[in-house]
Amino acid sequence: MVLESRWSFPIPQVSLPTFIFESPTADLPKTPAFISAREPEKHYLSTSDYRLYAQRLASGLLRSGLHPGDRVLLYSGNTLFFPSVVMGVIMADAVFTGANPTYVTRELAYQLRDSGARYLICAEGSLETGLAAAKEVNMRPDRIFVFDDGVATFEGKTVEKDTPEGKVRHWTTLLDSEEKGRAYHWPDLRTDDELDRIIALNYSSGTTGVAKGVMITHKNYVANCTQQLHMSKQSPEFEARLQRQRGLCFLPMYHAMAQAIFCVNAAVLRIPVYMMPKFDFLEMLECIQKYRITDLALVPPVVVAMAKHPAVRKFDLSSVERVGSGAAPLGREVCEEFEKLWPDGRINVKQGWGMTELTCAATTFHPEKVSLSFSIGELLPNCQAKVVLDDEGKVEAKQGERGEIWIKGPNVMKGYWGKPEATRETITPDGWLKTGDVAYFDEENHFYIVDRKKELIKVKGLQVAPAELEALLLDHPEVQDAAVIGVTITGEELPRAYIVPQAEEKATPEIAHNIKEWLAGRVSKAKRLEGGVHFIDAIPKNPSGKIMRRQLRELAAKEKPKAKL
Ligand code: AMP
Repeated sequence: MVLESRWSFPIPQVSLPTFIFESPTADLPKTPAFISAREPEKHYLSTSDYRLYAQRLASGLLRSGLHPGDRVLLYSGNTLFFPSVVMGVIMADAVFTGANPTYVTRELAYQLRDSGARYLICAEGSLETGLAAAKEVNMRPDRIFVFDDGVATFEGKTVEKDTPEGKVRHWTTLLDSEEKGRAYHWPDLRTDDELDRIIALNYSSGTTGVAKGVMITHKNYVANCTQQLHMSKQSPEFEARLQRQRGLCFLPMYHAMAQAIFCVNAAVLRIPVYMMPKFDFLEMLECIQKYRITDLALVPPVVVAMAKHPAVRKFDLSSVERVGSGAAPLGREVCEEFEKLWPDGRINVKQGWGMTELTCAATTFHPEKVSLSFSIGELLPNCQAKVVLDDEGKVEAKQGERGEIWIKGPNVMKGYWGKPEATRETITPDGWLKTGDVAYFDEENHFYIVDRKKELIKVKGLQVAPAELEALLLDHPEVQDAAVIGVTITGEELPRAYIVPQAEEKATPEIAHNIKEWLAGRVSKAKRLEGGVHFIDAIPKNPSGKIMRRQLRELAAKEKPKAKL
């Protein structure tokens, strides 16, 4: 049974910059749009500034020799200028790719190489890693630009920086003058082919293997924003609320969720967003209180922390009107705890569900309906879904039956960058995206995610690809074979390695500890083996050599919870 969204309508045939800013010259609000949560009076950008910095960057990038279609990689936490870099690259008809700011050299080098980035814009505090990664892929220092950390610093700062690799320049040297920026008109794209041009490579491992560049087009982004806004507009208060809405961004903007919600959706609606350079629990609470934040975009670990942490009750959260959560599973019990923070019963956590491969989201909960369960809501406009019971998608589940959820719609990615085979494995010839999530739907066509068929592990909402960790572990001298799965320990999903040692007598706690530490030195924090290192006689594999993860998950479920190594 194929389920259709209740709504279907034409998606505006415009480029993403036109969708957000109307035109290169339209009058735009001068009121603060992106505001530094640390120094709100001093540092902010209006929607008009957002466009102008993006135009100046686009014009400057093209002057500096960037060609349409080239990739520009931004390796930084959130700053006021992050959205302008995203949009500047897109206005230059080039491709934006953002890397996780906690990446270590190897991880960053992988993304630089895989995307074939021509330029690296790198946060000042991460320059050492940026330079080392750039060296690994033979990127010249004159292709590297220093970006401000956290708090925005406007032009006139360090223009050049001496590094052991040579001189690197400040990113503002890429900006053309205000006058040239104003005169820069981004391409006016109208046809299907033009709007199918790639604008972003957001990295995701998808259902299997290592991280891949998810090709997102103008059409994808404009569609997904239109779909999400349509759902918000189902609230009769939509217009009235626009006047008072205030967002808070601490989720990383390199990831599809924050990129869509803040760089695009909030900008389209002209909702001011207070920006935190990175997540800090107490600072977040302080910001909600101080800036009277109305709308919270959360991920499950933050909902859990807010539900449980005693410090929360010291803060005035009375400004909050709407709370959404996505990126990982969230149980209803914890939502109920969380909702008690507002004793008037005003807050009802609404979940959304999506994937990087779906631009951002494919379902959300209707703003006027009360969510009493862990449902991820209903399909966004122009989307279709089917829950399938077989790998070919021929046997469709009935209401209440569990299977893999497949999605069709204008927000489905174009494919994986440079990986046609992975694309073919993920998108069927007739356009269904195989999500790797196990779901069912009820009589109201509300969906529920109950399991994950794919390899992916989500640690605090961040992606961890087992294949990457397994490949690394095989390099450890004491490891003969390895498999990594996600295990849930006190409500958190964490990576656990099952290891076949080189010799039986090597299966000691010391060697397990050594393997864990060894890996920790080679990966960013979310990928550390905090779920433990366990020895096993053989990794269960099918005849074609594929790891049978379900068996390992069943094994983990049977094991008594052990203290973390
Ligand atoms: P990402 O591409 O990083 O956004 O990760 C997408 C994956 O996160 C999905 O395929 C799901 O496995 C998981 N996910 C996202 N939102 C939810 C949700 N509301 N409930 C359960 N899992 C989710």
